[in-house]
Amino acid sequence: MADCIFCKIARGEIASTKVHEDELVVAFRDINPQAPTHVVLIPRRHVASLDALVQADDAIIGHLVRTAAEIAQKERIAGLGYRLVSNCGPAAGQSVEHVHFHLLGGRSMRWPPG
Ligand code: 5GP
Ligand code: ZN
Repeated sequence: MADCIFCKIARGEIASTKVHEDELVVAFRDINPQAPTHVVLIPRRHVASLDALVQADDAIIGHLVRTAAEIAQKERIAGLGYRLVSNCGPAAGQSVEHVHFHLLGGRSMRWPPG
């Protein structure tokens, strides 16, 4: 998608601090971090939200989730515990319409979230 900010980040057209990239997924630090470690993981393929995923994306999302767990190990947040969350739709607070997962850690987090 030409004007999608996360597609632009994936292509390197918008600067970001990337912590991982491969042929399927890109992970970068959130510009407005909500925890000491806050990484955003996206598939390179433009998909608007969880609702728009199709069966062909299963392997990509599986790879993304496992990549998040590997990043948690590298960032040393796995010991304390971390959260992987995808906001879908307005009530959940989705602000960028390219499906993404927030990896949050480095502090205690409440459940349920507000
Ligand atoms: P959402 O609110 O859709 O769940 O999450 C979107 C996230 O993307 C937000 O946490 C926001 O701070 C982050 N974000 C938006 N634009 C940029 C950007 O240009 N660069 C980076 N690194 N993060 C961004
Ligand atoms: Zn996109």
